[in-house]
Amino acid sequence: SETVERHEFGAEVGRLLDLVVHALYSDREIFLRELVANAADAMDRRRFEALTAAGLALPPDAKVRIVPDKAARTLTLSDAGIGMSKEDLAQNLGTIARSGTRAFSQTLADAKPDERPSLIGQFGVGFYSAFMVADRVTVTSRRAGSEEAWTWASDGGGSYTLERAERSEPGTDIVLHLKEDADEYLEPYRLDHIVRKWADFITVPIAIVQEGREESANQGTALWRKPKSEITEEQYTEFYRQVGMNFDKPWATLHWRAEGALEFSALLFVPGMKPFQALDNDRDSKVRLHVRRMFITDEAGLLPSWLRFVQGVVDTEDLPLNVSREMLQSTPALAKIRRAVTGRVLSELASRAKEPDAYASFWENFGPILKEGIYEDHERRSEIAPLLRFRSSAVEGWTSLPDYVSRMKDGQEAIYYLVADDADALAKSPQLEGFRARGIEVLLLSDHVDAFWPEALARFEEKPLRSVTQGSIDLSKFSAEDAGGEAPAGIDALVAAVKAALSGDVSDVRATDRLVDSAVVLSASGSGPDLQMQRLLRRAGR
Ligand code: ADP
Repeated sequence: SETVERHEFGAEVGRLLDLVVHALYSDREIFLRELVANAADAMDRRRFEALTAAGLALPPDAKVRIVPDKAARTLTLSDAGIGMSKEDLAQNLGTIARSGTRAFSQTLADAKPDERPSLIGQFGVGFYSAFMVADRVTVTSRRAGSEEAWTWASDGGGSYTLERAERSEPGTDIVLHLKEDADEYLEPYRLDHIVRKWADFITVPIAIVQEGREESANQGTALWRKPKSEITEEQYTEFYRQVGMNFDKPWATLHWRAEGALEFSALLFVPGMKPFQALDNDRDSKVRLHVRRMFITDEAGLLPSWLRFVQGVVDTEDLPLNVSREMLQSTPALAKIRRAVTGRVLSELASRAKEPDAYASFWENFGPILKEGIYEDHERRSEIAPLLRFRSSAVEGWTSLPDYVSRMKDGQEAIYYLVADDADALAKSPQLEGFRARGIEVLLLSDHVDAFWPEALARFEEKPLRSVTQGSIDLSKFSAEDAGGEAPAGIDALVAAVKAALSGDVSDVRATDRLVDSAVVLSASGSGPDLQMQRLLRRAGR
């Protein structure tokens, strides 16, 4: 007789199930979106793997089938995708790999109710949403390339079982034993309605099966292929919400078709909000690459990492449908598309930067990421620099490098900046006193990346960027209201005494005209790393 193995869920899964089921109850129809998206992904992955492995090809009529059974009170989703081995089932459905429950539950607790549904997608815990409508879920799967099938089953309590099964073809069946109050998900019209809301996004065919008849629920009409004039704002917004698991409105929508030497359609969005998952963990652009509608991969790096906040789809004619991962690395067409798309996003940002209020909201969400481009992308540096925004010692709100330059004093040769950990430290810094007294503007930088990019940019409009903590800055030619003047008598003796007391800890002690209220200030040497960089290096143990 066959044995049934019983496994406990990873400790995190139990709590997560509880959270998902209770926190998202009012949006529970999203379970269908999550399961269909997984099924479509599995088919895309199989098509992609089939390019380099024999015998994995998708059958020509491959679909996601949604089968309600009123008599049995089950809803079944079947796909002809890549499938899961026994180990995959235990790993993917029995543990939480990508992100911890704690991060998820904290974010969920902080989120507004209408933000919650998008969270489960962003955190990669979509499968568990099945337990919102089902009190028992069985998953029977056969990995493409293997003869073995396994069934995973759980009632959403503390454990799941695994046992051997039969499946004639590779793929996965997910059977939901619906809860008493989930009858609506046995009604084909209801299922059809839910799927149609976002079907334009999924290019794998989806069918709802009723009394043996299959009804297609999506036309595979990829929205990005339609002319702009035929698309409503609501459709764009709905698409945006699907593509990035968002719930807000996009800050910018870019939809265009390139024709001529290079043919592609692009539908891209700059989100209106920061995603809940920090964009620091995974720095690769996730813009989806399609070839003639078919999804190929979201790992083509269609945009540089410093534009990784941009979401959407690029669909091209210029690659073969059977483009493999290896080809993607080396094909010149993709490099050209990348360049064109990057240029277009930058020019959109430049044009939106003319509306300061709207641009500020973008900047506050994604500015620190854009700054990375200054040191990562030599070629684009000069296009990115005018898009940067800063706090400054001279003006309220945000300012830019061109604005700073237009305010420079006669005889001022450099653009001055100060980097510190936060705005508070900046405001109080004695480093600023001498500059303030002379009416010389200093840019105030407190983002993590600010320790790195000014040195990479080096100059803007021929003006060198200089950290005010670098000791050799000479302000004596600017007259100050309260600073400077004659050095008091005895200063040389004082300097000598301090120098003797601190010998070994500092390289020099000097009298300065850069202070007004403070007695002393730390300073970096004229040529070495500035103070913030030294702090970072110390923290890194160098
Ligand atoms: P996510 O899809 O965001 O990774 P899920 O909880 O929805 O998170 O799914 C977990 C994993 O289980 C998926 O990443 C995938 O590897 C696997 N999986 C889920 N459904 C299927 C399916 N129908 N076919 C193959 N693998 C699947």
